[in-house]
Amino acid sequence: MRDLIAEALDKARADYAEVRLEKVDASGVSYRGEKLDDIGSSRTVGGIARAVVNGGWGTATFNDLDSIGRRVAEACESARLAGKEKTCLAAVDPVVDESPAVMEKDFRAVPLSEKKALVEEYNDIVRGCHEKIETTNVAYNDRFRSVWFGNTEGTFLHDERPDVGVSLSATARDGDNVQRGFESQAGVSGFQVVEGLQEKARAAARRAVDLLSAPPVTGGRYTVIINPRLAGVFAHEAFGHLSESDFVYENERMKELMVMGKRLGPEILNIIDDGTVPGQRGTRPYDDEGVRTRKTHLIRKGVLSGRLHSRETAAKMGEEPTGNARAIGHQFQPVVRMTNTCIEAGDSSFEEMLSDVKLGLYALDMVGGQTTMEMFTFSAAYGYMIRDGKVAEMVRDVVLTGNVFETLEHIEMVGSDLAWSTGGGGCGKGGQSPLPVGLGGPHVRIRDVVVGGRQG
Ligand SMILES: [Zn+2]
Repeated sequence: MRDLIAEALDKARADYAEVRLEKVDASGVSYRGEKLDDIGSSRTVGGIARAVVNGGWGTATFNDLDSIGRRVAEACESARLAGKEKTCLAAVDPVVDESPAVMEKDFRAVPLSEKKALVEEYNDIVRGCHEKIETTNVAYNDRFRSVWFGNTEGTFLHDERPDVGVSLSATARDGDNVQRGFESQAGVSGFQVVEGLQEKARAAARRAVDLLSAPPVTGGRYTVIINPRLAGVFAHEAFGHLSESDFVYENERMKELMVMGKRLGPEILNIIDDGTVPGQRGTRPYDDEGVRTRKTHLIRKGVLSGRLHSRETAAKMGEEPTGNARAIGHQFQPVVRMTNTCIEAGDSSFEEMLSDVKLGLYALDMVGGQTTMEMFTFSAAYGYMIRDGKVAEMVRDVVLTGNVFETLEHIEMVGSDLAWSTGGGGCGKGGQSPLPVGLGGPHVRIRDVVVGGRQG
């Protein structure tokens, strides 16, 4: 592969050019209710050539390895037609490296029949848990990406990226009242990640049933404690995307809001993006431009202190590249994305956070949401009222709304119980979805959060 790529790049007439080849083996099984919804496996091979001339980018994608030289030439030609300024790419030392996958139990060696049996077992557990369970959706997916990357600066990388996950969804019905319980598990270390999830299957089913009898939360402003998974989602969705420099660079208003050194929250608040956390789904030695990943403090001690870059955004903004140019597959060029994002641990215990809350809300996980610039709306999967310092009754329809900058200011306690989420899902920026990312955080207490309770 190395020779193939080197040979193709040899003839590139561009300021810079690169080739990324991928071989992807994937398999999946899903059940919907009692029916096997989908089962299959696939292998795809393809690549993308990318070139820049006078600041203009050109790309060419392909599915056969015979035409790489021609595709590189096409990418160069497109780039020449697009270019009308100076090419700006942050300097990176060339590197040659191999990063093979390390899996405890290689999912590629597990027969599809065994994957099907596992999903069927989980599905049966969810379905059989309670008479009010109306339907289920249980899915298994694995994906093994082998990626070869080379560029005209002499970098050559080969790495392997396994990812495997199961999602368990239960829908319960009582008349017009329909509720959903959801659990998932995903990881990079092998098939064992998705084994032994019987208890999670029961939890998903039980939650759907419990939510049937939980009242909708009464709308209002509350002191809210978010659980680690929701804290991770908040760090990624509400704040992290604003730290992606392609977005900041193209948006005058964001440039004003996201000025380095600006205080955004209390001293106890630290938010990082870290592509080097062992075992996380967003962890990679290099990004898809061959830049080493690293830990970037986005907020340090409450102050805006970093943002995420590709080589181009780093050069244009006069900052260091951070190894955040990521692509979901060979049809796509890399864009600035998060890796593993988390709110770092503070020093409060969950009990301390609860203790002086007379009336508040404990919100857990997330089932949906959207963000528009600095405004966010998140639907927590479920919640509990906090009454006189104690977790009280379960409530449903917990929708948190706000302005991210106000919400960051309102953070008043950060827990010591940092946990990286073991759940699945991923980031969907720019139509490249889902890209595996890591989400982490401790419990976080925020005052004065607008909670909208929908009418059930
Ligand atoms: Zn995202």
